[in-house]
Amino acid sequence: MGIDLHRLALHAIDLAADELSLDAWLRAVLHQPERAVAVQVPYVDDHGEMQVVTGYRVAHSTARGPAKGGTRFHPDVTAEEVAGLATLMSVKTAAMDLPLGGGKGGVTIDPKRLSTTELESLTRSYTRAIASGIGPYLDVPAPDVNTGEQHMDWMADEYARVTGVAAPAVVTGKSLAAGGSLGRDTATAAGCRAVVLASAAKMGLPTDARVVIQGFGNAGAHLASMLAAEGMRVVAVSDSRGGVHDPEGLDIEAVIATKADAGSVVEHPGDVVTQTELLGLDCDILVPAALEGAIDADIAGSVRARLVAEAANGPCTFEADDVLTDRGIAVLPDVLASAGGVTVSCFEWEQNLAGERWTAADVAERLERHMRRSLHDVWQVAERRALPLRTAAMVLGVDRIATALEDRAGVRPTELAS
Ligand code: NAD
Repeated sequence: MGIDLHRLALHAIDLAADELSLDAWLRAVLHQPERAVAVQVPYVDDHGEMQVVTGYRVAHSTARGPAKGGTRFHPDVTAEEVAGLATLMSVKTAAMDLPLGGGKGGVTIDPKRLSTTELESLTRSYTRAIASGIGPYLDVPAPDVNTGEQHMDWMADEYARVTGVAAPAVVTGKSLAAGGSLGRDTATAAGCRAVVLASAAKMGLPTDARVVIQGFGNAGAHLASMLAAEGMRVVAVSDSRGGVHDPEGLDIEAVIATKADAGSVVEHPGDVVTQTELLGLDCDILVPAALEGAIDADIAGSVRARLVAEAANGPCTFEADDVLTDRGIAVLPDVLASAGGVTVSCFEWEQNLAGERWTAADVAERLERHMRRSLHDVWQVAERRALPLRTAAMVLGVDRIATALEDRAGVRPTELAS
């Protein structure tokens, strides 16, 4: 899986590079991380025994600012996977015009088998191993699969112990007390809400548009509630057990209560639907907010929405993307529709560097403005170059990195070649 992801990331870069007719040296730079380390991560288990696993940290690009990207603890983590994810982060931060580059890290381990004490030992050891390559102006880790606030607090603390510098901006996704930002818990949903509302208005969808959401976790449930508050009708939602459908619109706060009490949205009154049925329901907007690869070419053929907003990372396969585009269905790509999280991460980093604490309203207002501006930028490239939104976002991101690389080189690419 890891190798594929890196290959896919490079393929996406190449498509954008072709569209931009980029010079060979720029392609070569984009194909290779600036810096990649594999490190030993020794930690002490609950029996007092020393265990050793492997960790990685990759800074793919710092052309536009310090590398930025999550930290994944998973048994499938490989060097190739981390490099692929770091590459995609560079394009994402650039497409979003954040003053950051792209990075990613990970440890090859199943954290679900570790106690809290073991996890702390592992996280602190990993931080010591990569400490010389991270920093507020160098490479700024964040949470990803199986890591969260607690891990980031450990990382910031260990970094301070190792370097003697208490610099909360070294990682984002910290607890509020340790310098985290307000609004981070709802950032992905709020970012998606902003681009969905702006796109719906641009496409002339009704103000009470019918919305279907796959996945009712952090991203999906908050988004359902936010879109319902805007007057949209959320007609179906699902979680890992299945979906519930009401063509008149679900009472989202009641569905949230059902999920909390009974464990799943399928316990809520309404028609129970399968995952596949849910994705093919008649609606205006479909939001995959659960899994990678949830929409394949077959499912894409039965989608009846006019707009698909990728709140999840990579929910549409390449083939599905082609089918949706051929059928004239607009796809708001994950680079944009799931970028609320990294945008508020950037806000956290900025607050830490400036020694500020922004209010929740301030964060929300800045996020909304930033998301709308990014959507506008992507849409402009799409219209100007007659490209689907996903390709346009990649082209925009790659173009911004390439421009920074050219400026940094101080010569035009043609001068370099001669
Ligand atoms: P989560 O774990 O909080 O929620 C995932 C939801 O998906 C759960 O409701 C789960 O029951 C449901 N689910 C699992 N398998 C399913 C299936 N087969 N069909 C339908 N639903 C299923 O996760 P999250 O934080 O909401 O993240 C969801 C997606 O959004 C992921 O792709 C993630 O990478 C992406 N994302 C999240 C954030 C964030 O800050 N939370 C940021 C960027 C991207």
